[in-house]
Amino acid sequence: MTIRSIRPLAPQQCPQCAGKQTFVITREKIECQRCGYIVRDEKHQPVPPNPRPQRAPHDRTQYKISYRITHRGGVESYVEAAFTTAMDHAKRQDWDGAIKHLRRCIDFQSDFSDAHLWLSRLLEDPVERRDHITSVLAHEPTHGEALRELMIIDGEISGGGEFNEFTMPETRDAGGAVATVIKNARCPRCGSSTLSDDDAGGVLLCDTCGYREDKGKHVGAMSLLSAALIKQRSQPVRWQVGERYLKCGSCGSSRTIAARQMVETCPFCGSKNVIEQDALETLRQPDGIVPFALSRKNALENLENELSGFGEKLKGLFNNHKVKRVEIEGLFLPFWTFDVILDLLNTIIDTSMFESSRRERNFNVYQTETIPEAANNVLIPGFKYPPRALIDRLGKYSLSRVVGYDPRALAQHSAEIYTLPFDQAAMEAHEQVANQVRQKYHANVSCMVKHMTFRLLLLPVWTITIFEQDHQVRPGLINGQTGRVALGRPQRLGR
Ligand SMILES: [Zn+2]
Ligand SMILES: [Zn+2]
Ligand SMILES: [Zn+2]
Repeated sequence: MTIRSIRPLAPQQCPQCAGKQTFVITREKIECQRCGYIVRDEKHQPVPPNPRPQRAPHDRTQYKISYRITHRGGVESYVEAAFTTAMDHAKRQDWDGAIKHLRRCIDFQSDFSDAHLWLSRLLEDPVERRDHITSVLAHEPTHGEALRELMIIDGEISGGGEFNEFTMPETRDAGGAVATVIKNARCPRCGSSTLSDDDAGGVLLCDTCGYREDKGKHVGAMSLLSAALIKQRSQPVRWQVGERYLKCGSCGSSRTIAARQMVETCPFCGSKNVIEQDALETLRQPDGIVPFALSRKNALENLENELSGFGEKLKGLFNNHKVKRVEIEGLFLPFWTFDVILDLLNTIIDTSMFESSRRERNFNVYQTETIPEAANNVLIPGFKYPPRALIDRLGKYSLSRVVGYDPRALAQHSAEIYTLPFDQAAMEAHEQVANQVRQKYHANVSCMVKHMTFRLLLLPVWTITIFEQDHQVRPGLINGQTGRVALGRPQRLGR
């Protein structure tokens, strides 16, 4: 790829040593790894431009006055009239007058969401503002503007500026290796990097000193999808990271690693470095992890059983020495998991109406029935490789075994960083649920998502590579929890 339509942060070529893609991005500077040149021009800002939100003074003039009522189900005309009067006052920046009439609206109808939203915008006291937002969200948990307002009050995003549902951050390429914040997976007692959790346990073990620690911290709560989307869209830039720069936490040696690599074994000192964040803050830490419930030995036994019952070509592969070698490695793969609550709108044509008197035209022959539905633990792979076809054949994972994420749980195995962002995964989850629902009802129903939450989980697989005698390589996976085997097609070794 030579054409780049996406503006990179680091220059592609070093102006001093002419090295290509030699820059490392840290929080402080962008520096050439080869010659030490530091970028200082405006276009390539050294400081990552996703700033911490600042608590700006509350500016009531920032809101665009609108008389439109968005409250689901509508309101009575006298409530609407009071709301219109309130907006008239707000238009003249008579805040006290507006607040008075908004309070009247609430007296008439306590759950009127537009009035609560505007009270939260026009009042000064953050506690009161928060209370009114909570009232909106109680009535409508995914109310976009209310969520955004709440996040501004809580200092999670900065307010001001144009914002609507179409606002999108600019996508930019990092253009260089992004420095990482790492955690060394070490034993808390003796400090050696010999922690393991290999064999089917919820226990972290140190092979050097015998230290034992029960894993099984609680998993964090699910994140609200709409809030996460608002937060993401409030950022000026969405970064694309090609590679990262890692400095070993033990010996200080440094190198560049692929963006999808989450754990690195230092080639010089053997310690495990687990990536927690990078200088552009592009990473979300996993919320939970499902530990291996199947040892390497058991996984290999399952594989052998599978191969022996696999038909002519593979029959007795092991015994007849057709298999030269099998490589097996434990790997945690990132999955987004979604819980979805939705309403199905099913439109029924009431045929009995056609038979009744045609003069009565006010009859509605179309009736809509609303069916509540829910789908939990919808898993969407956050990675491209291993391919979906193979992943789908691994069967289910029981998510009741999930525990809180701890980087030290990766001491023994490798792990991948997701490449599919949560918002794209959410669209996939939505589609998957809609399809399931349509199959279930055999009808062309439409789905209205009412509530969607998600989290990021690491799930265990044993990856296998079977080297067969005729220069063929067969990839495979074993579910690290259930032991189910999925074998891919053999491929000829390159060259
Ligand atoms: Zn240079
Ligand atoms: Zn130890
Ligand atoms: Zn090292």
